[in-house]
Amino acid sequence: MDRRNFLKTAGAGSALLALTSLPLFAITPPPKTRPNFVIILGDDLGYGDLGVFGHPTIRTPNLDRMAQEGQKWTNFYAAASVCTPSRAGIMTGRLPIRSGMCDDKHRVLFPDSAGGLPQSEITIARALKNAGYATACVGKWHLGHLPQYLPTRHGFDYYFGIPYSNDMDRVGGKGREAFAEQKREFWNVPLMRNEAIIERPANQNTITKRYTEETIKFIKSNKDKPFFVYLAHNLPHVPLFVSDDFADISLRGLYGDVVEEIDSGVGQILQTLKDEKIDENTLVVFTSDNGPWLSFNELGGSAGLLREGKGCTFEGGMREPTIFRWPGTIKPGVVADIGATMDLFPTFCKLAGIEIPGDRIMDGFDISPTLTEAKKSPRDIMFFYRGTQLYAIRKGNYKAHFFTQISYVGDQTKYTHEPPLLYDLGVDPGEKYNIADKHPDIIADLRQEVAKHQANLVPGENQLVKRIGQN
Ligand code: MG
Repeated sequence: MDRRNFLKTAGAGSALLALTSLPLFAITPPPKTRPNFVIILGDDLGYGDLGVFGHPTIRTPNLDRMAQEGQKWTNFYAAASVCTPSRAGIMTGRLPIRSGMCDDKHRVLFPDSAGGLPQSEITIARALKNAGYATACVGKWHLGHLPQYLPTRHGFDYYFGIPYSNDMDRVGGKGREAFAEQKREFWNVPLMRNEAIIERPANQNTITKRYTEETIKFIKSNKDKPFFVYLAHNLPHVPLFVSDDFADISLRGLYGDVVEEIDSGVGQILQTLKDEKIDENTLVVFTSDNGPWLSFNELGGSAGLLREGKGCTFEGGMREPTIFRWPGTIKPGVVADIGATMDLFPTFCKLAGIEIPGDRIMDGFDISPTLTEAKKSPRDIMFFYRGTQLYAIRKGNYKAHFFTQISYVGDQTKYTHEPPLLYDLGVDPGEKYNIADKHPDIIADLRQEVAKHQANLVPGENQLVKRIGQN
């Protein structure tokens, strides 16, 4: 890999492999013991909200250490800038447009939504379960709350969580002020175990703590077989709630308290893996579903130096603070190559010795050579969708915006750009300096990539427009 794209973490791990000495036809032997996989996802956690990603007042010692021991990816994307399509991308390894899990008006699923992730989609959980993995989903699902769409119908042996966003089923409070009142009775969201509601409204003050405990319990009881846990926190999505132990501990205020509680949970999970002597056989990934909800001011997060946040196709909407850890297997370092949550599916398949589904277009790439050998990431392109519309494309370090439209705050007009805005994200990660005039050749190349992508694109049946009680 280019020295500019991989920086070995000081003092950690061995020297990079001499790539030129590898045999040309090296075949990776099937793993002797199949690795466990743990995904930990924040909700609306911004690129700039972790200590290791530069936040000055939110303390995340566990995630900082995880990054030091593993790989910190600085150009890693969610599949979309809002919850439902982003999560569809993680689960299927495909752009949400293909599964129908995106819409221009109803941007996510709501409690009156009748749709969900179709059974024709194969989830990571289904692929791993079919290969003998024990599978659990803990936390926010948001891919359909009706029985036929729940995690238990999509390859998960076990589910514990709130099936959609924590600001839904609102029954109290007025306007936006309600979000700051910390009254959990305003949000009548259900907490489910498998397919039954066990608590309503969910006690959101203890939800982060309980998600961590459920995850640890599942790991302990499945430590002797391969397992996959998808822990998707409901927080730090507004309204913010925190348990007593973490109240008023952060200089960053309530938002910081919440992130520090999530960080503590990560520390407990990593410690459990060590105590159970399985941390050298477990790949843990930490990332977020979309950028920070900026219109909530101090109750929302920060995208750091990136432009904008949740809901839009500027970098702040979709680039996520991402860390991989697998002691003894991952080459520790900082990776500036491109990756995406859609890559987790094929990567896990490869590492587990499972075939990647061959009957459909997969948008994910197997990034295991980057994780284990510090090779260049196979992903060079990222498509930026808003709902069903392609707004921007990145190839290498160049990103072209054909349309821009920010969300939730200020002027929300959709702007068309002809020629497109062009940014060099290597030099200009904040997307400040449009260089379209200087690079008509690059724009022509990016247009060609868009045409190639769109030529074989078949949108799935829209799942987000369907409402309960309507045909
Ligand atoms: Mg979100």
